[in-house]
Amino acid sequence: MTSKTARMPVVFFGHGNPMNALAQNRYTETWRRIGAAVPKPKAILAVSAHWYIPETAVTAMDRPCTIHDFGGFPQELFDMQYPAPGDPALARQVRELLKPTQVSLDKSWGLDHGVWSVLVHAFPRADIPVLQLSIDATQPPRAHYELAKKLAPLRDAGMLITGFGNVVHNLRKIQWQENTPAYAWASLFNEKVRDSLNAQDHESLINYSNEGEAALLSVPTPEHYLPLLYIIAQQQRDEKISFPIDGIEHASIGMLTFTIGLNDI
Ligand code: ZN
Repeated sequence: MTSKTARMPVVFFGHGNPMNALAQNRYTETWRRIGAAVPKPKAILAVSAHWYIPETAVTAMDRPCTIHDFGGFPQELFDMQYPAPGDPALARQVRELLKPTQVSLDKSWGLDHGVWSVLVHAFPRADIPVLQLSIDATQPPRAHYELAKKLAPLRDAGMLITGFGNVVHNLRKIQWQENTPAYAWASLFNEKVRDSLNAQDHESLINYSNEGEAALLSVPTPEHYLPLLYIIAQQQRDEKISFPIDGIEHASIGMLTFTIGLNDI
């Protein structure tokens, strides 16, 4: 990394429904406040649940496209664009940092909805370069945590490392009626994760599957949980964590959002 700046915070966003991109609600207002509270990043490195492929790759194009990776939503959502630039030179630096893990320089992905549905609120000007880092679906949780630790120099060089997922994410159990209470297993798992985050108990967070049925139901597939490991891997000993958003949407989607190294907003 070229220049040294104050260590940047890191953020895990519970992204939830893509329609949040168009909405103004308590989530989007908080995402906006987080974006305003963070020192302006030189670039944003985003780990999204929606780029879960059998390898580690980083987007390396000048102009990443806005990917509308969903179906059944209004045209207005398909028309949305988040025209943030890329940063191919930084992508090459990321590839160096992560050695000996092989990292592909990707020219075909872009920004998926897990990322842009939040960034349109957090950084609405779309003037900060954004890179996505894929989640290698062949690797176990600990490998993601260990790989993520190698990204630490980016924080000291003014980059904002971000994760986009949901701690609890079970679409098969979703209840669309308004104000349906959370399933007991969803609340239980969310509380466990929050307690472990507060205790800086990274081992429990890596070994989340030890939580039995609550984990099985809350994390039926790992892609929405794993971005969390990329964020806690950046945490220094006793570094402050805060939870600007908590709660379960539609009974089975956890919206927990946390920041590390940022004062309460
Ligand atoms: Zn998602």
